[in-house]
Parts: sequence; structure tokens; C-alpha cells
Amino acid sequence: MAEGKRILTGMRPTGSLHLGHYAGALENWLRLQREYDCYFLIADYQVSDYADDWDRVHNSVWEVALDWLAVGLSPDISHFMIESQVPENAELTTWLSWFLPLGMLQRNPTLKAEMADIEAGNKSVPVAFFTYPVMQAANILLPRAHLVPVGEDQLPHIEMTRELARRFNRQFKEVFPEPEGLVGRVPRLVGTDGQAKMSKSVGNTIDLKDSKAVVNEKVRRMYTDPTRLRAIDPGHVEGNPVFMYHDAFNPDKAEVDDLKERYIRGAVGDVEVKTKLAKAINNLLEPIRERRAYYESHSEHVRAALEKGCSEGRAIARETMEMVHDALGVNYLKKGG
Ligand code: ATP
Ligand code: MG
Repeated sequence: MAEGKRILTGMRPTGSLHLGHYAGALENWLRLQREYDCYFLIADYQVSDYADDWDRVHNSVWEVALDWLAVGLSPDISHFMIESQVPENAELTTWLSWFLPLGMLQRNPTLKAEMADIEAGNKSVPVAFFTYPVMQAANILLPRAHLVPVGEDQLPHIEMTRELARRFNRQFKEVFPEPEGLVGRVPRLVGTDGQAKMSKSVGNTIDLKDSKAVVNEKVRRMYTDPTRLRAIDPGHVEGNPVFMYHDAFNPDKAEVDDLKERYIRGAVGDVEVKTKLAKAINNLLEPIRERRAYYESHSEHVRAALEKGCSEGRAIARETMEMVHDALGVNYLKKGG
């Protein structure tokens, strides 16, 4: 156990979780929950790009919690929090936004790309979307976290959070540890389309809750090497999403090496490569599906996990905000006139 060290990390309630979340985040969280005091956040303040789809957001809060329980995260040793149920997140965001120069947000590469995506869909970017990285900084600093396991796309936000912590500590008082980012085994898993990052918003996912038949079908339709028309044509393994997934999810390394070798030579068909991949993914997902089915029929456990986590989240949030109020001197009534 990393003595007294805390983790804050989270996900947006925009849909159920997929293999990108598993390889990029959840797999790491599962290991880390035994070593750190973990705060897992469902970031429902940060989905302003879904303001026209509240049903989806509401459902996804439960979906995300279900997926967390299904992969084996434990609410007994960690804290499952819903962001809006710990409103100190919003308060700290307000104070932190005093100390962040506008240019730093405008230059943030992840934010820039996400805003461009929203605009490409002919939507306007809500102000709350533009400022969500500040809120993410508040999420991390509120439990005074030391470590933040995330996918690669989130690293600019962590860098900004570190800068905010330094500025606050220097100007007022040492309140916040400078948090470190930690990227998972697969920093950015490509989607089944082979084009973009696997993402809920793009529709190129294999979901943790997909049935065996759905996984088989999604893998069958996966993008492979477009230059290879027949099984006897030599193929490309580099940059081929089917082989990236084999590397990520097939534990039988000898099988993967053999498939790669024959693919390059033009001695194996796509059907065999994909059938073996689907099998490996289904083996990984089977125990997750079983646990999910259990929690779907015992929703009282999901509710209890969230209730416990939100209440524990509020406790540490109040402690931190007291330190912040003291540091800023905004405890007017406590000090007296
Ligand atoms: P959205 O498209 O709605 O933003 P998302 O799939 O990007 O959804 P988030 O909730 O934004 O999911 O991300 C949660 C965590 O999972 C973050 O740490 C993120 O970096 C990580 N993550 C998401 N997709 C991937 C992926 N394809 N590969 C690796 N990590 C990922
Ligand atoms: Mg995202």
C-alpha cells in the first residue's frame, strides 16, 4: 500500500464502457485500487456536449457504475463518486479559474481537438465545455490526489492541474500535492474503424457489455489491411487494428506471433485471424458479463456503492475546502468582522 497516497480518476457518463477504457484505464485502476486510496469519479458536470440528451447522461451514470463493478472495482476499498453530488467540485472550479490564464486553455491540444469535433457536427461549443479541464483540475485537487491514471489524451489536463497546484501553493499555502499522471498499458486504443481513437462518441467501440454474438460480428467487420485483397497477398501487420487488438487482448503470444508471420507471408486468411481475435476478446469479457448480469439484477448494490462513495467524497471535499477557505482568507464569518 502506498501509505496515505490517494488517486483521483474518472469517466464521463456518456455511454457504457468499451475496450479502450479497459486497456487504457480500468486495467490499471484494478491493480491500483489495492495500493492507493482511490476516488473514482463519474463526471456528470463535464458532459455539456450532451445537453440535448439528458436521458443518455442519466442512464450512463448507472451504466458506468455497473461497468466498474463488472470489471471488479470494489466500492468497499474505493470511493465511487458522482461529481454533481459533491458540489465542492463546482466551488473549487470557480476559485481555480482565477489562477489559470485564458491562453493556457486555448492552447490545450486535447481541448482544441474535442471542440473542433463538436463544431464539425454543426453544434456550438458550450462555455462549460471550454472550461471542463479546469473542472477536471478541481476534481483531482479536491481529494488532494497524488496520482491520476488516465489515457494519453488527458495528459495536457494533468499538466495544467500541476501548474494550478504550484501557483496556488506558492501564492497562498501548501494545500495541494502536485499530482502525477499515469498512462495505461495501451495509451490510445484505435477504434474498430481503424481511423480514430475508440470512443463512445464515434461509434467505433467494442463494449464491455457486448454479447458474444455482437463481439463476433464487430470483429468480423473490423477494418484490416486495405491493400490486401486475397488471403495469398502479403499483408501489413504494422498499423493494422486487428493485430493491435491481438497484441492488446490475446494472451497467447505464440499464437499472435504465428498469425503475424503467416499474414506477412500471405499464408493466412482474415477469417482465421479475426476468429482467433474474437475468441480472445470473448474470453476476456465473459467474467465481466457474468458479474454485470449479477449487478443488473441487484441494482441495490449499485445504488449503495454510489451512496457510500458520494458521502466519503463529500467528507474529504469539505476538509480540503476548509483548507482552501483558510488559505484564501474567505472564511469571513469564522474570522469575525
Ligand atoms: P467521450 O468520447 O464521451 O469523451 P471516451 O470514450 O473518450 O468518451 P472518457 O470518459 O472521456 O471516454 O474517458 C475516460 C478515460 O478512459 C480517460 O482516462 C481516457 O483517456 C480513457 N480512454 C477513453 N478512450 C480510450 C481509448 N480508446 N484508449 C485508451 N484510453 C481511453
Ligand atoms: Mg473523452
